Amino acid sequence: MPEITFEDLRLIEPLQKALTGLGYATPTPIQAQAIPPLLEGRDLLGCAQTGTGKTAAFALPLLQRLYAQRPPLAPRAARVLVLTPTRELAHQVADSFRSYGRHLGLRLAVVYGGVGQTPQVRACARGVDVLVATPGRLLDLMNQGCVRLDRLAALVLDEADRMLDMGFLPDIRRVLAAVPAQRQTLLFSATMPQGIARLADSLLTNPAKVKVTPEATPVERIAQKVLFVAQGDKRALLGEVLKDDSARRVLVFTRTKHGANRVAKQLAQMQVRADAIHGDKSQNARQAALENFRSGGTRVLVATDLAARGIDVEGVTHVINYDLPMDPESYVHRIGRTGRAGAAGVAISFCDSTERTCLRAIERLIRQSVPVDQDHPYPQAGVPQPAPARVAPLARHRTSRPARHGRRSRAAA
Ligand code: AMP
Repeated sequence: MPEITFEDLRLIEPLQKALTGLGYATPTPIQAQAIPPLLEGRDLLGCAQTGTGKTAAFALPLLQRLYAQRPPLAPRAARVLVLTPTRELAHQVADSFRSYGRHLGLRLAVVYGGVGQTPQVRACARGVDVLVATPGRLLDLMNQGCVRLDRLAALVLDEADRMLDMGFLPDIRRVLAAVPAQRQTLLFSATMPQGIARLADSLLTNPAKVKVTPEATPVERIAQKVLFVAQGDKRALLGEVLKDDSARRVLVFTRTKHGANRVAKQLAQMQVRADAIHGDKSQNARQAALENFRSGGTRVLVATDLAARGIDVEGVTHVINYDLPMDPESYVHRIGRTGRAGAAGVAISFCDSTERTCLRAIERLIRQSVPVDQDHPYPQAGVPQPAPARVAPLARHRTSRPARHGRRSRAAA
């Protein structure tokens, strides 16, 4: 089948020029599917994870439509609104709009909480073509009369499942009450649980539907494995796993902020360049941690699920679930941070005896069992032996077990 080009998608020249500048040669599948109906002004329901090119899939056609019809901007009004669950994602989406729209001369603002609102109020004062916002701060600004949505032409809900998980549904409903009934609406979600399907039904009119990964199924190129280990041995096991030089850029997930800090500190003690990112850190500290990780300054970023939402870092070689998530869908989100853009990715989960139920829930959701790797220095006893040779062992591990842990394992047996 001949490959579709951006020209085939009838994108205008200034957008194509920007894409060429960014080195995008061909549209990704979601772009090929979503751009034509969006250019026609249709609503869209997109089932896609970050990493599929979904931002360009909605930003490009929306920019083109904004550019085609340019009414004078009304003070404080926005023409396109993109709602995102986190400030990091808001930044990334805004950056994408800026770079794709760099030859269009449109106005853009981004608003999110945790920082002073004055610059954001100022950025919206004369009206904007594109407003990227997290729901809470947007509502604050609307309530103060600093932002109006009564002239909105298009609304995008990005990572809608995350927004619902984070309890933003009431805020979203308040925002919806302030937007015109006549508008183009787009909803993107990595998973389609019932809550999202209901929201989509209530919001979208005859939407085009695009889906680029099967629902809640991790991309196949991610090699998953689970390592059964006692809680007290997880720290040492992480040290072992990180002896693998191919683990160049590693995202470690913990369940709590405290856990993230503790693991980052322990890694630093092991001379591993590591940082933690979570909701208690200031916006500046989070940005700095992210930048360091992106640039390779830190090798390991330890994150909680909330903080990791919307993080888009290329070249993550390994995702390590230091703790398994309570919510099985988070597993899919977590491991989807690796194996991007055709690269191979590895997802390693540590599972102690209290986490077996979480593992079973994950396996039910992804409809496959996660291969067990018992060939590591801290196997937890009492775990059914895996079938032989189900997965390759860790690239490097000690052949003789340290006495302390060996004793513990045997004692537990
Ligand atoms: P997203 O899923 O929107 O977070 O995009 C994931 C990454 O893919 C981003 O770093 C984009 O810059 C990049 N990207 C998006 N579309 C293309 C494309 N057509 N060709 C190459 N890279 C792309």
